[in-house]
Order: sequence, then structure tokens, then C-alpha cells
Amino acid sequence: MCADKSNVKPSLLKSLLGNKCARCRRGSIYTTKNPYDLKNCLKMPEKCPVCGQQVEVEVGFYYGTGYVSYALSIAVCVATLIAWWLFIGFSIYDNRIFWWLGVNALLLVIMQPLLMRWSRTIWMAFFVYYDENWHQGPPEGTGRSNPTFKNAI
Ligand SMILES: [Zn+2]
Repeated sequence: MCADKSNVKPSLLKSLLGNKCARCRRGSIYTTKNPYDLKNCLKMPEKCPVCGQQVEVEVGFYYGTGYVSYALSIAVCVATLIAWWLFIGFSIYDNRIFWWLGVNALLLVIMQPLLMRWSRTIWMAFFVYYDENWHQGPPEGTGRSNPTFKNAI
């Protein structure tokens, strides 16, 4: 049986790869675990099921994920380029570079659901910080309604 790890801080990389909430790093920010369930792969609950952090922090919050998605796609391209160069190689005497272009494009299309989900998870982690003692809701008597900005008071 697994030991109770609820008091251990989950690692950032693991929580990003597992699409976990940035606040608690435990609750999933997607309603489905399968990224290739294309109809539902980007559906998010209103709040994190573990800590209650609002998943869509403000209206249009995830528009900026395009930047993260672009960076992730470039990282995949660079990784496949280096791997291709090391294991297959490039030459001006044949068309291996065009094979790389095709394989890379195919890989990007196949990985797109994963990249979109990771982009949102990373974007959320930019703005929402880990806090194991965070509790949903504004401080008493402040009249503030958005729990995200409770620390800004
Ligand atoms: Zn959470």
C-alpha cells in the first residue's frame, strides 16, 4: 500500500506533466484524464476538486496560452531535429531533411492535445502559486469576492 503523502509538497514538474492545479498541485484541472478524448480534452471544472482554486482565474485567462503552446512546439521541433541529426543525419545529397519535416509535422499534430493541455497548466502556474495552506474564499470582512486576489489586499 502507498504511504500517506498528503503532507509532502508535490514536485512542480510532475504536477505540470500531470495537469494538476497550480495552487495545490493535487487536483486535476481537466475533467477527463484522456487527452485524446478530443471532444472533452479541454473541459475544465469551475474549481479545483481538491483546494477550490478557481480554474479559469478570470474571463479569457487562457488566451495567453498561445505563447506557451508556441514555445512547447518549438521545443519539440528542436528536440526532434537534434535526435534526427544524431541518429539519421542530414545531407545535401538526399532528401532526409524533408523526411524530418514530415515526421516532425506529423508528431506535432499527434501531440497537439497534450501540448494544449500542458500550455494551460503551465500558464496557470505562471500566475497561481503553490500554497499548501491556501483556503478558498476571501478574508473575513474585506468584502472581496475573488479568492485569487486575497493576498493582494
Ligand atoms: Zn487545487
